[in-house]
Amino acid sequence: MNFLITGAAGFLGSSLANQLAREGHQVRGLDDLSTGDPQALAPDVHFTRGDVSDRPKLWTLLQDVDVVYHLAARVSVPESVLYPRDYNHVNVGGTVALMEAIRDVGVRRVVLASSGAVYGNQADQPLKETLTPNPRSPYAVSKLAAEYYVRTIGGLWGIETVSLRIFNAYGPGQHLPPSHPPVVPHYLKQALRGGTLVAHGDGTQTRDFVFVDDVVSALVAAATAPNINGLVINIGSGVETSIRELIKSVLEVTGSKVEVIYNAQTSGGVLRMCADISLAREKLGYRPSIKLEEGLRLTIKRDNRFK
Ligand code: NAD
Repeated sequence: MNFLITGAAGFLGSSLANQLAREGHQVRGLDDLSTGDPQALAPDVHFTRGDVSDRPKLWTLLQDVDVVYHLAARVSVPESVLYPRDYNHVNVGGTVALMEAIRDVGVRRVVLASSGAVYGNQADQPLKETLTPNPRSPYAVSKLAAEYYVRTIGGLWGIETVSLRIFNAYGPGQHLPPSHPPVVPHYLKQALRGGTLVAHGDGTQTRDFVFVDDVVSALVAAATAPNINGLVINIGSGVETSIRELIKSVLEVTGSKVEVIYNAQTSGGVLRMCADISLAREKLGYRPSIKLEEGLRLTIKRDNRFK
């Protein structure tokens, strides 16, 4: 099959591109390299640098493509609080531009990387796709808007669409910016270099951490699974882990004895996040197989930044 992946040089995009190329597919990747690294891509992935809103470029890249994976986005919740306009521009505007180009050229299916963040605080756990979203950040709003645009434009023009609400993905190659880094690679780096682990709030807030290989298996399945048009589907581990438990696992796996500080002055964000993955099981045959400690070990082993 022929694939186009936007955000292909990113953490999830590069793992997906390399997996599809390994399976013998033709893979084109687009990324503006605002955070992505094209070195992460296998040589047989055809990479183009460019913006996801560049429709002339998209018209060319979309020729003969069967399935588009839309992953290009700004991805930091705290950064989105500071720069909501940028998040709207890239995550919403970029999605609409891409859907317009797809409408013009025609592809069979679009798979959107959405986020578990769209749920926000919910009393009912694990989180089911039928819950009313309660986004708590501009990032979450932008992903929810992208879901609606993809589904609505797809429905109007006969393009199959599916949105995967990915929870806290982690693994080798995850972008680690100096400010607002994602928690898993940040804690691994701190523990391995003897730095302090700082938790926001009291560390009892929970997240659903899912290893990159499991996310990629779901993305791959979403390209060809029947009867998923118009759906949103959760992709997590199905395991609820508190930040305290994550810290314990990081210390265990790294053998580190660094200091841990719980910062009551800062908010821990959404209180609880645990994905109900029964729809993914049913529709995508999804079976996440990597438990947290194993995933942390694999991250250290496969990522040179932790050597
Ligand atoms: P990432 O930052 O590594 O990947 C995003 C990529 O998009 C980067 O390579 C970046 O350079 C590129 N990009 C940004 N703006 C662009 C633009 N205007 N034009 C072209 N490319 C652009 O992040 P990731 O973790 O790999 O996330 C990939 C997707 O999955 C995102 O849509 C994100 O919202 C979604 N997602 C990720 C997680 C997670 O835990 N990693 C969870 C839920 C959803």
